[in-house]
Amino acid sequence: MPTQSPALRVVVIGGGIFGVSSALQLARRGADVTLVTEGSFAAGASGRSLSWLNSSRRRSLPYHHLRMAGIDRYRTLAARHPGLPWLRFDGGLTWDAEDGTNEIAAAYAYERSLGYDSTWLQADEIAAATPGVDPRTVTSPGAIFNPGEGWVDLPSLIRHLLPAFEAHGGHMVAEAGPARVETANGRVTGVVAAEAGRFEADAVLVAAGPATPKLVAGNGITIPDATPVSLLLETEPVETQLRAVLNTPRVAMRPTPRGTLVLDSAWSEEEVVTRPDGSHEVRQSTLDGLLAEASKVLAGNPALRLARYGVGPKPIPLDGEPVFGAVAGIAGYHVAFSHSGATLGLIAGELLAEEIVTGAPHPMLAPFRAARFG
Ligand SMILES: Cc1cc2nc3c(=O)[nH]c(=O)nc-3n(C[C@H](O)[C@H](O)[C@H](O)COP(=O)(O)OP(=O)(O)OC[C@H]3O[C@@H](n4cnc5c(N)ncnc54)[C@H](O)[C@@H]3O)c2cc1C
Repeated sequence: MPTQSPALRVVVIGGGIFGVSSALQLARRGADVTLVTEGSFAAGASGRSLSWLNSSRRRSLPYHHLRMAGIDRYRTLAARHPGLPWLRFDGGLTWDAEDGTNEIAAAYAYERSLGYDSTWLQADEIAAATPGVDPRTVTSPGAIFNPGEGWVDLPSLIRHLLPAFEAHGGHMVAEAGPARVETANGRVTGVVAAEAGRFEADAVLVAAGPATPKLVAGNGITIPDATPVSLLLETEPVETQLRAVLNTPRVAMRPTPRGTLVLDSAWSEEEVVTRPDGSHEVRQSTLDGLLAEASKVLAGNPALRLARYGVGPKPIPLDGEPVFGAVAGIAGYHVAFSHSGATLGLIAGELLAEEIVTGAPHPMLAPFRAARFG
């Protein structure tokens, strides 16, 4: 009788989009997967993300290609489930400040050179391309409209993926407390979670969001990061025609499945105060200021009221590029740590799972190994 080799035991640490997406793809490929997360699912950056699906402006070409593959997988998901209220491809509109930093002309030329779908519009042409914007706030060089961009609500996506993970035999362990990776003789042996105990593993994927650099440092792995504190506001439901993701000098925003808007910006993030104990203080003036900036760019300038906000670290590697895949020197040890985790969420899970199960490095992930940091 032919003997069947036992399934590869993989423990995934982190219940954000990278962990959940990878766990599902691993289970689909026949691995015996345990997904362990400290608190509830989507409790980290994935629960307070703008989640603009894009590859706009300039970055390395391998990163651009990975992002385009990421958008492709969302398009497939949208085609398989028409009408999902939490995944939309209504485009992105962006303009820059009215000063010497304005890069709209150069960004447009670069995007066109890559074949990225990009249209350069003057203020009075915007309404015909995408509704809901007050053209008076668009600066004189005009705006770029990218019709192929979109947005996803990550908590909804995670809720969509988890039942499929369970249906493929995956084990979910929420409220596990902080987990760490155990190694012996140059390979991973298991994961120990403070509240949930020990799980044997042939392979481990650390996808702990902003906590990843600290967690892997416990195993002697260096991932330098430039993780800032971020702030995402959600409004009460608002009457607006806005469909696109907006990126403007003073505010970025998108619609949500709840009829609300979510907003963030660089300046409001910088105003968050981090106390010595690591907790964050958000000033009322910052919240009011961001709501006012959002109102200015919306047609009709509706009054916006705050429903809730999320504050916390936004995972960003030091050089801005993703960190994906096997770690040199410890067999079976894999990581996923990146900004733009919304855009990359589905493709990263797919390629990481393929690598873990087959052992064959994927060429699209080759530029993004942790080993580049030495
Ligand atoms: C304000 C903001 C705006 C953003 N805008 C965009 C955008 O427009 N487009 C885009 O593509 N991306 C955007 N991003 C980035 C994107 O949201 C993130 O890259 C992505 O959500 C990260 O997912 P993750 O799975 O790596 O981490 P997380 O979602 O943080 O998940 C990690 C999970 O691991 C758990 N955990 C941590 N430590 C441990 C431990 N020791 N043991 C067990 N569990 C642990 C946490 O509780 C958490 O649930 C934005 C992010 C923020 C915050």
